[in-house]
Amino acid sequence: MKKEYDVLIVGAGPGGIFSAYELCRANKGLKIAVFECGNPLQSRKCPIDGKKIKSCINCKTCAIMNGFGGAGAFSDGKYNITNQFGGTLYEYIGKQEALDLMRYVDQINLSHGGEGTKLYSTANTAIKKKCFENDLHLLDAQVRHLGTDINYIVLENLYQELKDQVDFYFRTYVSTVERADGGYLVRTEEDEFCGKTCIISVGRSGSKWMERVCGELEIPTKSNRVDIGVRVELPAAVFSHLTDELYESKIVYRTKQFEDLVRTFCMNPHGVVVNENTNGIVTVNGHSYEDPALHTDNTNFALLVSKHFSEPFKDSNGYGESIARLSNMLGGGVIVQRFGDLTRGRRSNAQRIAESYVIPTLSAQPGDLSLVIPKRILDGIIEMIYALDKIAPGTANDDTLLYGVEVKFYNMEVEIDRNLMTRYDGLYVIGDCSGVTHSLSHASASGIHVARHILERE
Ligand SMILES: Cc1cc2nc3c(=O)[nH]c(=O)nc-3n(C[C@H](O)[C@H](O)[C@H](O)COP(=O)(O)OP(=O)(O)OC[C@H]3O[C@@H](n4cnc5c(N)ncnc54)[C@H](O)[C@@H]3O)c2cc1C
Repeated sequence: MKKEYDVLIVGAGPGGIFSAYELCRANKGLKIAVFECGNPLQSRKCPIDGKKIKSCINCKTCAIMNGFGGAGAFSDGKYNITNQFGGTLYEYIGKQEALDLMRYVDQINLSHGGEGTKLYSTANTAIKKKCFENDLHLLDAQVRHLGTDINYIVLENLYQELKDQVDFYFRTYVSTVERADGGYLVRTEEDEFCGKTCIISVGRSGSKWMERVCGELEIPTKSNRVDIGVRVELPAAVFSHLTDELYESKIVYRTKQFEDLVRTFCMNPHGVVVNENTNGIVTVNGHSYEDPALHTDNTNFALLVSKHFSEPFKDSNGYGESIARLSNMLGGGVIVQRFGDLTRGRRSNAQRIAESYVIPTLSAQPGDLSLVIPKRILDGIIEMIYALDKIAPGTANDDTLLYGVEVKFYNMEVEIDRNLMTRYDGLYVIGDCSGVTHSLSHASASGIHVARHILERE
């Protein structure tokens, strides 16, 4: 027996959650189902404890990437309110609308446990001038830092509010989405569900699935870029003048050697470096807590270079995956190297890491990143580290730790219109799986946008 709904939502990440939230808020009595292959929030637990289990054991669904809250559930909870990075939602819905929706999402976060958290801004800072003086470019943004702990509370509160109005199907993998009479049919391993409208929000972890579904439904797609680089970890004092004022600074540098753009990404003052598992490939990421009791002495951030392939090779993600696999092959997971070892052309070993003044917050395999990361990308990263050293002296110290590889995979771009709807009436693709967003705020805003479009048509 097929179960019937008004709206079917695939994926309970920010895109799925905020679309469900906005649909419920309208109080129109819509029957809504959310399918999530991962666990409810409280059951999401990564088995890596650093003692018995030190590296990824490839669980059936990754507790970090899948489950209520999506990929961002244990993230640093940085909601960037900006059109300068985090996605190109504004190209579809307009710049002002995109910013308004991000501010609206911010208000929802504040009213669900985020009140009291700080909103940082890059506007009119002396740091911007200092960056210019050194050929570095600080991007404009407002950043709400919820922190991993408050982010969790906000998600828990949202779930409590939604659970009586929405049917959540956890540990339920959607195998296919098909067109059916006047709507859509969602098949899971055991059941079938019908709905007038279907919102797909399967995130980055659902990228391969999304590709298949687009192929089956003949929805056009375009290849997207991939970002490759390292995560830098150094004493928090080195970056404190930036992080105290801005929390997160997105800085871009054009290398002298190749004129490639290298940028900082996901800055975590007093944070920790963590493993990330995307479709079985272990890469590196980072986060930090709002609670000072959970702060470390280190700050971490990524340095990334974008690569976009088009002809004759189109598979940008495949290229990133191969580099990540190489690091997994050599290091069994993530590799860590002292900057001083890298510039001297030697690998780091356990002794050199142990003698380092920067104590790593992630237990990674000491090794040699130059054997993994293509020369052009690595040269750019080294050049950027020296450039950052001019605005944050100490960045290029020998003991600065580099973890590799950090890869940001972007989904291919799905052809959607300004309502984020595919060529099929009532079938929406939102959040990171659309290739349009790649951040919490943009993914959440895209969820609100489609919910409002659905409500207008009700
Ligand atoms: C460690 C980490 C830290 C991050 N930190 C930040 C940050 O501080 N700020 C920021 O802006 N962004 C951050 N990001 C990125 C941010 O989390 C994502 O941009 C955001 O979560 C995208 O939301 P989404 O709803 O599109 O997808 P997701 O959050 O990925 O959610 C998609 C959901 O769909 C489910 N799913 C996938 N396929 C299926 C299927 N076939 N059937 C059923 N369910 C399925 C998945 O299990 C997942 O829960 C971080 C990401 C990671 C991994």
